[in-house]
Amino acid sequence: MIGGDAMAGPKCGWRTEKNRPCTRDVMGRTSRCWQHQGKWSAHEAERRRKKAAEEKLKKLRQR
Ligand SMILES: [Zn+2]
Repeated sequence: MIGGDAMAGPKCGWRTEKNRPCTRDVMGRTSRCWQHQGKWSAHEAERRRKKAAEEKLKKLRQR
């Protein structure tokens, strides 16, 4: 069977250091995977970091 990837969603295609295209599935409305989204990825990372910090505070308060 050829073209098994056709059934899957679009791939990221980002050129990695080894000059091979990234084969991860793209995220939502972007055209890149979670690791290659650039600005959005940085924004999301910051958001997650804040959320993690809040969770930590909550746990501390529960004691
Ligand atoms: Zn990628």
